[in-house]
Amino acid sequence: MIEALARHEIGYHSNYHSVQPTPALYLAPLGWDEGVVEFDRRERAGFDDVGRIFGQKPSCYGQPGSSWGPQSYGALRRWDVDVYLDAGNHLGLDDRPHYYCGVLTFYKLAHTLRTGLAGERELRMAEDRFQQARQALIDEGGGVVSIFYHPCEFVHKEFWDGVNFRDGANPPRAKWKIPPVKSPEESAVAYRTFENYIRFIQGFPDVQFITAREAAKLYRDRARGRSFSPDELKAVAAAVGEGVTFQRRDDYSLSAAEAFWLVHQWLTWRFNQWPAEAITLASSPLGPSSAAPVMADIVTADWSQFERTVADVSDALTRDGRIPSVIWLGSVAVAPESFFVSAARVAADLLAGLPAPAEVEFRPAALEAARYVADDGPELWGWIIFPRNHRAPGMMELAKRQAWTIKPAVLDGKATN
Ligand SMILES: [Zn+2]
Repeated sequence: MIEALARHEIGYHSNYHSVQPTPALYLAPLGWDEGVVEFDRRERAGFDDVGRIFGQKPSCYGQPGSSWGPQSYGALRRWDVDVYLDAGNHLGLDDRPHYYCGVLTFYKLAHTLRTGLAGERELRMAEDRFQQARQALIDEGGGVVSIFYHPCEFVHKEFWDGVNFRDGANPPRAKWKIPPVKSPEESAVAYRTFENYIRFIQGFPDVQFITAREAAKLYRDRARGRSFSPDELKAVAAAVGEGVTFQRRDDYSLSAAEAFWLVHQWLTWRFNQWPAEAITLASSPLGPSSAAPVMADIVTADWSQFERTVADVSDALTRDGRIPSVIWLGSVAVAPESFFVSAARVAADLLAGLPAPAEVEFRPAALEAARYVADDGPELWGWIIFPRNHRAPGMMELAKRQAWTIKPAVLDGKATN
């Protein structure tokens, strides 16, 4: 079995899948840093096992069931895993591949297509859906169809975890039950249906089967490592609007966090009177790790305070690799969204040759990109393995703060619209 699987690319799907507590449960009460450490503590051993047993580093991660939590992305960055590959409703960007926390994410896609495994009738329906998806993707210049199965689906009538861990149950190993098993004939039909589905897809010369690692090449982030000339920086700064969100540019995209980094890097150069050469986006910063201060009113700072705060923000960006949760204008706290909107306007003006203003105003601003992350609600936590009525409002707020990092993934040099 191991030899057969090791010929394929291997991903990672958590250490124990449905043994309680699953990731969304243990991450829900934790903040960002604690959650990253806890995910690493509980899941790293299995990740290392899979790598050792199959002789290759897992290329992607997907959560068990709908047991999703944003802190897992922080751990994946530490593990150098470039791809999140699964299906769910916790976040999504126009139903297409995107980057979140700097990780290429295939989630809530327009086309996640499976065939039922009960034979011809289900196969025909799946073939029709695939045809439609293929046509839609050709019309938009290319894209992905995601297909996934659990091996148990071919031999079990019911999932192994449902009969043991339903509604938060956590029986000891000695009491684990085997789920009802398919007859050899039913299993044979399941395997045959799946094989015919793959053969059908294989019949289209314009369709290619790709793995997560190959997808990471096709959707490579062209912003990372890119050098931005003063003219490009001016365009980036000028494009920052009141609702903070990502930017689509020619053959790449920028998350709000990356644009924030570029603007502050350039302002720091300017204030230190370093030569205004191109600035290289070395890495993708994370979003803030906690809620922003509420700003009821407009805040004003003089030029000297603005300069000193930019230096403080640049230091935080460099040391922490993330957008600060709070930005201090002396003794006055402002939200990073508000600071960014004004700092970008100042940068755009300076880059256009205008003089520095005497004062800078900061108005309340929203993180518009947060709309790509779902609000907490029962539809996120419908997996039967969760305790009934599981909710995670604090964790979904944390996930929305990381929407600073969301941006479209651009396919092979083409700009998607
Ligand atoms: Zn699973």
